[in-house]
Amino acid sequence: MKPLTESEIRGAFVNCSKGEAKRLHVPRDLAERPWDDLDFLGWRDPQAPDRSYLVAELDGRAVALALRSSSAAAGQARLSMCSMCLTTHSGGVSLMVAAKTGKAGQQGNTVGAYMCSDLACPLYVRGKKDAGIGARLHETLTLEEKIQRTVANLAAFFAKVTA
Ligand SMILES: [Zn+2]
Repeated sequence: MKPLTESEIRGAFVNCSKGEAKRLHVPRDLAERPWDDLDFLGWRDPQAPDRSYLVAELDGRAVALALRSSSAAAGQARLSMCSMCLTTHSGGVSLMVAAKTGKAGQQGNTVGAYMCSDLACPLYVRGKKDAGIGARLHETLTLEEKIQRTVANLAAFFAKVTA
C-alpha cells in the first residue's frame, strides 16, 4: 500500500469519534514501516494493550478501524488461527472487536474477528515474519493468491463493520 501520514491515518477512522481519532496512538515511525509489504498497517497502543488499530487501503481509499482485543487468558497456549491471514499461532491470536459504524455502533453493536495479536498478517503471508513451525498451511496457492485472500478477508471484515 502507499505510505500514509499521521493525519491521513487519523482522518481515515470510520468507527470512532473524531475526538478519539485525534487522540489515539499512531506509531511515530511511520516512515520506516515496510509499506511495500503491507496490505494494511496494524498496531497496538503501548499505553493501553487492549486497544489496537488498523488502517488499510480499500478501493483506493484509506480506511481505519479502532479495535478492542480480549486480553489473552492465562495459560492460553492452544493453537488458534488468524481469520485474516490463516496463520496459526500458539497463543498469538486475539479476538479483535470493532464497534460498528453509525447508529448500530452507538447502540453498542460490535463485530469480532480472530486476528494475529500483533496485526502483522501481511508479513506472515509474505514469510517476512515467522510464527514458528507449522504456522503456515502448505498450500498450492501462489503468494499473490494468498495476499488476495487476506485482503478479501479484511475487506469482508470492514464490510461487516460498516454495514
Ligand atoms: Zn493474521
